[in-house]
Amino acid sequence: MNGGGALLEYLPPVFGTRLLRGDYVCMNTQETIELFDKYVIANYTRLGIVIVRGEGSRIWDADGREYLDFFPGWAVSGVGHCHPAVVRRLQAQAATLMHVANNFYMEGQGLLARQISEHSFGGKCFFCNSGAEAVEAALKLARKYTPAGRYKIISMENSFHGRTYAAITATAQPKYHAGFEPLPEGFTYVPYNDLSAVDEAIDGQTAAVIVEPIQGEGGINVADDDYLEGLRTLCNERGVVLIFDEVQTGMGRTGEYFAWQHSGVAPDIMTLAKSLGGGMPIGAIEAKEPVAAAMTPGSHASTFGGNPLAAAAALGVFEAIEQEGLIENTRKMGAYLRAALETLAEKHSIIRQVRGKGLMLGMELSVPGAPIVSSCLEKGLNINCTHDTVLRVMPAMTVTADEIDCAIGIMGSCLAEVA
Ligand SMILES: *Cc1c(COP(=O)(O)O)cnc(C)c1O
Repeated sequence: MNGGGALLEYLPPVFGTRLLRGDYVCMNTQETIELFDKYVIANYTRLGIVIVRGEGSRIWDADGREYLDFFPGWAVSGVGHCHPAVVRRLQAQAATLMHVANNFYMEGQGLLARQISEHSFGGKCFFCNSGAEAVEAALKLARKYTPAGRYKIISMENSFHGRTYAAITATAQPKYHAGFEPLPEGFTYVPYNDLSAVDEAIDGQTAAVIVEPIQGEGGINVADDDYLEGLRTLCNERGVVLIFDEVQTGMGRTGEYFAWQHSGVAPDIMTLAKSLGGGMPIGAIEAKEPVAAAMTPGSHASTFGGNPLAAAAALGVFEAIEQEGLIENTRKMGAYLRAALETLAEKHSIIRQVRGKGLMLGMELSVPGAPIVSSCLEKGLNINCTHDTVLRVMPAMTVTADEIDCAIGIMGSCLAEVA
């Protein structure tokens, strides 16, 4: 089964002309896995499937099998796989100018910063390439902005902020630290949703508090209604920078552009990545003045940050959200999906709780979730399990009621098997 012939047989003609023009070697599943075994470092637990194509809420594997994708790209493909607005802008930009160094101005980066700023709290942006880099930039900026002697960072238990050194240290989960010590100094951990713990932890050396409005990797833990507001008040009173990590919650996922908008309190710095680029790698921070001004020329940088190609993709994401009313669809489909998950919870006693906002939903189980994820995948549905016992479903913001019905049917039959 080498070569493109076998692959072409099951692909719709449009796909054949779009992709298979000799640029790609089409291998079967086994051949691809063998390459990984031999040449790719095994730092991920991979599902035994090779994905070759995606469109909306659907993906296809190298054997031609179709799956419904309710965890698209680990929350990256928020507007669905290969959204036409993203593809169109990327194709045009790729043929015009892919990259230019940040010692020049470039239109796309400026337009993207304006989109982010106008949809949030009117701050200024710095661009990088991933969530961890956005967190890294936010922490560096908080230390640089606050007076000398303020360097401590307070973060929350069960948080997740990425895999660079400062980001794993802010990530208050021991499993992400093991083997990498010594970690950078100055990090303090407190329980999530516990305002008095933050109050006690802040001292004259505290630079910043960093928090996810909904903890993603930590198990879809939602901030209490008055929590973010309480943090805002504490940080104002004590001269501390407030950072909201919206890498997973941002760009419409929860039914607002940014999750903090549910509570109405803006941070001093917000981090973004994942779905910002519609599949292209891009990260960003947005910072309020005067915090933003502390990032002076030469103080921080990223070679690829906000390059024309990545900015074009992210502008395509904003276009898709605006023109197709995807925030509204997220609210509607989020309510529909949540109700369906709650109906599952009534039928299956292993489901302890359904929680989340918009299309960022989790089901806490009384048993490990991994076997259910595998069995859903066998039946043609991709979902995720995080924090061992939390099934996480985050379909694209373009998802339809029919697709949700289909996914719920598969999840129901997998849950019944486990019970
Ligand atoms: C995924 C994630 C990160 C890290 O993003 P990378 O792009 O993997 O570096 C940081 N913060 C949150 C909240 C995330 O969900």
